[in-house]
Amino acid sequence: DNDKLANSPPGSLPRFRESEWDDNVGYFIKKKLHVWCRPRNGLWESGQIQSTSGEKASVLLSDGNVVTVPTQELLPANPDILEGVDDLIQLSYLNEPSVLHNLQYRYSQDITYSKAGPVLIAVNPFKDVQLYGNDYVTAYRQKLLDSPHVYAIADIAYNEMMTDEINQSIIISGESGSGKTETAKIAMQYLAALGGGGGGIESEVLQTSCILEAFGNAKTARNDNSSRFGKLIEIHFNATGKICGAKIQTCRLRLKRACDYKYLNQSDCLEIHDVDEAKKFHLLMGALNTVRICKDDQDHAFEMLAAVLWLGNISFLVVDNENHIEVVDDEAVTNAAGLIGCSTQDLMRALSTHSIQAGNDKVAKRLTRQQAIDTRDSIAKFIYASLFEWLVEKINLALAMGKQHTGRSISILDIYGFESFKKNSFEQFCINYANERLQQHFNRHLFKLEQEEYELDGIDWTKIDFEDNQDCLDLFEKKPLGLISLLDEESNFPKATDLTFATKLKQHLSANHCFKGEHGGAFSVRHYAGEVVYDTGEFLEKNRDPLHSETIQLLSSSTSRLPQMFATVLKQSKKPANSLIQLGMSACQKQSVATKFKGQLFKLMQQLESTRPHFIRCIKPNSKQTPGAFEKDLVLEQLRSCGVLEVVRISRSGYPTRMTHQEFTRRYGFLLPENNACEDPLSSSVTILQQFDILPEMYQVGYTKLYFRAGQIGALEDVRKQV
Ligand code: ATP
Ligand code: MG
Repeated sequence: DNDKLANSPPGSLPRFRESEWDDNVGYFIKKKLHVWCRPRNGLWESGQIQSTSGEKASVLLSDGNVVTVPTQELLPANPDILEGVDDLIQLSYLNEPSVLHNLQYRYSQDITYSKAGPVLIAVNPFKDVQLYGNDYVTAYRQKLLDSPHVYAIADIAYNEMMTDEINQSIIISGESGSGKTETAKIAMQYLAALGGGGGGIESEVLQTSCILEAFGNAKTARNDNSSRFGKLIEIHFNATGKICGAKIQTCRLRLKRACDYKYLNQSDCLEIHDVDEAKKFHLLMGALNTVRICKDDQDHAFEMLAAVLWLGNISFLVVDNENHIEVVDDEAVTNAAGLIGCSTQDLMRALSTHSIQAGNDKVAKRLTRQQAIDTRDSIAKFIYASLFEWLVEKINLALAMGKQHTGRSISILDIYGFESFKKNSFEQFCINYANERLQQHFNRHLFKLEQEEYELDGIDWTKIDFEDNQDCLDLFEKKPLGLISLLDEESNFPKATDLTFATKLKQHLSANHCFKGEHGGAFSVRHYAGEVVYDTGEFLEKNRDPLHSETIQLLSSSTSRLPQMFATVLKQSKKPANSLIQLGMSACQKQSVATKFKGQLFKLMQQLESTRPHFIRCIKPNSKQTPGAFEKDLVLEQLRSCGVLEVVRISRSGYPTRMTHQEFTRRYGFLLPENNACEDPLSSSVTILQQFDILPEMYQVGYTKLYFRAGQIGALEDVRKQV
């Protein structure tokens, strides 16, 4: 080796400045190394540079074809030794195609989990991958396995909770069908295995998923078992680390519009492939018993379900040429009224008229067909949502019963990820706002971790520049001139339209660089995960609460169990809801949907901020819900929206490559012309760096480790290979 080195003197390393980290193409061209290019339909492919002329390079692709591409579109590929590394941050070149390739390589080997720095990436395998169960739990507990896994994350959380006595949270996000809920269950399984023996409470905690899914999930185009609510499960542990209780919080956005809310007979989907309904129902009944929901309450729950279904069958007859209607008096309305516990007459009146204040009088106005349908559907929705929250409350009662909470806990959050569709509406607006908050939480945590590591190792961390998304949050939250405040103001203004709303936004928000103009009733926001165009159509209606006060009055005076059930829902509004009249009154003062959402989000963030977070990002590899297929652009889009590319970017802006002085001298020491074996590892490291003339701003020397800017190790590796 030393002989060879004599022929290629040190100092021939390329000098990469940080800003050029991904376009040090000149060197690659000279050495004819592997590169990424996009010769056809925009997809990245790897190849080897054959020759260059002017601004063009000809590249030999792996399929044998040679293509000509502009040199400025080339990106460096990683050396072979880095194929399929566990942690993306280990890659020398952290460009998009390299990150994507690494995940695809692992996916093709059935490796479900990878890391991006502190973040666990879970690519949904859509098949049984044999990575779970007692043997795996034991292996991770005893550190016999150290490859990335949900178990490893849960294990760290558990240990930190026990030793540092700091509460923990596991924050799981990703798009619909990416595997969040399954991942949450896998984490719970591990914690239940570790914290078992506390009197069976761990199995109660596990069984809650079955109940919540039965009532809170639905088949959608994107997921056969899609959660229609976000949830936070807080698992409580006693001083010896055994599970002693749990608490579930749900944030049901309740954002779905009536017409999206498919009643069963319209959905055209009564069977799901591979799902045994009878068996699932049996499991559900077992779970309800486990969490001690009594027979009476179970019956009430099913009565409310029946009421919702009958409501869906109520039909209307148009009685004049202005589209005003009457309710058809049939078994649907009679049965619905019976189950709700009101007279058929009262229900029919609520569904067909709306009284408005005219001076001192109340005047009943007949509803149009569409208004009547909306009213009917919003009652059904409201009953269903109340039922769901009532169930959650019952479960919480059972999980907390007679148990002393010591204060130790691990919370698992299963929440929708960032969404960007062709058409984005109020739902995406709320979801993306929530994700922007979570992203800030994530950035700050990451920054703190980095800072701690640098400080411990004696490194000057002030040189590291982190971007924050505070400006985007200000755009949403500032009062009185922020998106939410302006939306509320406009929602209260009777003559407002989607267009006046859009114009108002433009008028007041243009100064914020995250607000990107408005045209034709749409506005766009620059989110951390990319720019999203929101269509203001229906923003105002969706932001207003859909239930009229008379409807609330009708429901609260019903003789069924309903008022008790939805007391929980109404408790969230300002006034104490201890009498039926007040129930009706407080309902009139309900907040707008966006403001309520913001309130819930703040509460959630407060809870999370008192814990040490662990992040899991779930990725859906294809849109067909099948194993094996890896759709690159779909994955890339998600890596961007779930902030993985942001992690990579943040790491890149610091010193992503770290090696202990021992590791470094072991790997590169032989490149030194003289034998410096007697030197300590730190001194040897410094000697090597100087010999190879690596620019001082490209690395920092810590007490235990060397910290490199991205790309530096790749260059050293190349010299090592040439030797
Ligand atoms: P939504 O936002 O719609 O609720 P989600 O992210 O919660 O979606 P899941 O319901 O957890 O998605 O997962 C969708 C499906 O993917 C599961 O029903 C299961 O078939 C499959 N799946 C997810 N994770 C795994 C896994 N680790 N192993 C095997 N299959 C999985
Ligand atoms: Mg889910």
